[in-house]
Amino acid sequence: MRHLIGNLKPYWKTVIILALLLMVQAFCDLSLPGYTQNIIDVGIQNKGISHIVPEAITEGDFQSAQVFMTEEEKNVWQSVFTDETAGIRKRTVNDEASLDALDDSLITPIVLAYRTEHADAGTSGSSEASASQQSGVMDISSLPRDQMEKMIAQVGTRTIKAMGIAFAIECDQNAGVDVVAIQKHYLITCGARMLAMALLMLIAASMVSFFASRVGAGIGKNIRGKLFRNVMSYSSAEIDKFQTSSLITRCTNDVQQVQNVSVMMLRMVLYAPIVGSYGVYRVWQTGANMGWIVGLAVIAIMALVSGLMSVTIPKFRSMQTLVDGLNSVSREILTGLPVIRAFGREETEEERFDTANIALRNTQLFTGRAMNFMHPGMTLIMYLTIVAITWVSARKIDAGTLQVGAMTAFITYSMQIVMSFLMITMMSILLPRAGVAADRIDQVLRVESSVRNAENAREFSPEKGEVVFDHVYFRYPGGEEDALEDIDFTCEAGKTTAIIGSTGSGKSTIVNLLPRFYDVTKGSIKIDGVDIRDVTMESLRAGIGFVPQKGVLFTGTVAENIRFGKEDATQEEIERAAKLAMADGFVSDMENGYESIIAQGGSNVSGGQKQRLSIARALVKEAGIVVFDDSFSALDMKTDAELRRNLDEEHANVTKIIVAQRISTILNADRIIVVDDGKIVGNGTHAELMESCDVYGQIARSQLSERELEGIK
Ligand code: ADP
Ligand code: MG
Repeated sequence: MRHLIGNLKPYWKTVIILALLLMVQAFCDLSLPGYTQNIIDVGIQNKGISHIVPEAITEGDFQSAQVFMTEEEKNVWQSVFTDETAGIRKRTVNDEASLDALDDSLITPIVLAYRTEHADAGTSGSSEASASQQSGVMDISSLPRDQMEKMIAQVGTRTIKAMGIAFAIECDQNAGVDVVAIQKHYLITCGARMLAMALLMLIAASMVSFFASRVGAGIGKNIRGKLFRNVMSYSSAEIDKFQTSSLITRCTNDVQQVQNVSVMMLRMVLYAPIVGSYGVYRVWQTGANMGWIVGLAVIAIMALVSGLMSVTIPKFRSMQTLVDGLNSVSREILTGLPVIRAFGREETEEERFDTANIALRNTQLFTGRAMNFMHPGMTLIMYLTIVAITWVSARKIDAGTLQVGAMTAFITYSMQIVMSFLMITMMSILLPRAGVAADRIDQVLRVESSVRNAENAREFSPEKGEVVFDHVYFRYPGGEEDALEDIDFTCEAGKTTAIIGSTGSGKSTIVNLLPRFYDVTKGSIKIDGVDIRDVTMESLRAGIGFVPQKGVLFTGTVAENIRFGKEDATQEEIERAAKLAMADGFVSDMENGYESIIAQGGSNVSGGQKQRLSIARALVKEAGIVVFDDSFSALDMKTDAELRRNLDEEHANVTKIIVAQRISTILNADRIIVVDDGKIVGNGTHAELMESCDVYGQIARSQLSERELEGIK
């Protein structure tokens, strides 16, 4: 939640615009029921007349209306009309406020007079029918005014107003005013206003969508960028910890979730409370005593939504992990496809994929099915609410305390309240769900690379290139025992140091510590006497040419791949490096030479070619220290030997660290380090080690014949 809101910060301006737009939208949305109510109650039932003082009045009606008026009321009444011409008086007041005031002050005497007249004349005239129907049958003409007032008060203000308007309609008709035209005019203006409101609401809603999506997409982009930058800074330790597939899901799927919820939040979080609270206010204001129905509906909706959500949320949570799992399996299978084929393991691997796939499907089906109850359930509750409101209203309308239009408006407000509570409930549940994704993202953002520049790290470029491993211990993060123990040796500047040992003995681990892919657990590594943790990683790595055990090439041309080692390398430098690395032969055989395209992951070159290109890439750097991690293993003996001769000649002053499995590769090294099970078991030249080191002797004898060994001596 905190993260979700934090993401909005850079967009505060847009968010303010959004808030304003939402208010416009809510205002329009909420005004619509009022228009419906007016169209029904005033436009249709009262012929578009909304005040009790008629526009024009005959002299006879003018006089009889004053029967029950006090002196004061008479003065008011008379001041409203012009003097009589041809038996007709015209109303002089036309503004709404004054007319409303007149409605209030003159209603009682006018209704009394109106009732009396119609009680005398019996029921006649269509305009009067609705009023008498609403007030019930009563003869009040014979009672004194105070008692009549009491009687009238019992029928409710709405009905009284309706009678007053019936009076106005009758007067207007008697005076020859075109009531039909008034009604038409009223309906058209009211309808036009309603249409305008609906249009404004449409525009506001579209703009809300537009801005919300923009902000959402921006948030997505920002988070992805931040995530990616942070992951790029990770050392191998953090990558190991999260696993590549999970990092990919977090950068894509999880970000998408956060983005979706942010958009929804922007569109609903403000809207629902505005519409909901105003709806409650209107429902309360109608005084129709039907609030309890709305209350019940809200409770039912909230129960439905939270019930469904509580069942599905845990599943949603596990979904993320399942997606991780699926990604991880498919990644592994796809990258290992050749091996899977070679070993005929397609079926088992497919089963493995199916397991992950089915687990995801089952979870999705479950959540989907549960969610399917949502819509029918909601519809049911809403229609039950409408039925209940109509049921209760029917009696009230019958009793004259409620008008049909008011009921219609009430139903609409109730629906708005129910919908907004639905939105609020959904949000309160969806937010934590996005919270899961936000947390997963946050975990990645919070973890800083364990290998980073020291505060006062300085630039560094080694002069001689002497590398010293000073009693180095190393344990992989989460590992149970040390992978390296007390590694202590010196690679003399400009000399070749070889590291040999069986697979898994720790050779790669040793050389990976030099460019700080990991940091040592204990001890230190020094170049020219400077601890590598005291210098910036950038300058440290710039000074080291590194050929990893696993050749990795990138999409692009051969030249681009070699230039990876030195951005501004000229064509000559590239070709020289390729020649040194024994790569020029096969490169010039390729169709476009150095401009030939390397496919993703270098899948269109052989293992040995990949290694040679990796070597060229490291050599073009012209670094003072070069590390070859098992880089000659895929080369044939002849190429291997030639390559090493090239190195000795052309890179004579470079400190070379060569990890190898093949004795012949390192026979002539100035110093050979023998590693076994993470410890150094031999250190010296070939001849010395043949005498003193058992492990070395065994490796040598297993690879070379006696005669060869003799010859070397
Ligand atoms: P070599 O290069 O000599 O074949 P490595 O240096 O790659 O051997 O591995 C040495 C030991 O460290 C092995 O036992 C291996 O299981 C362990 N190891 C290698 N990489 C990791 C890693 N990323 N996390 C945990 N253990 C590792
Ligand atoms: Mg290795």
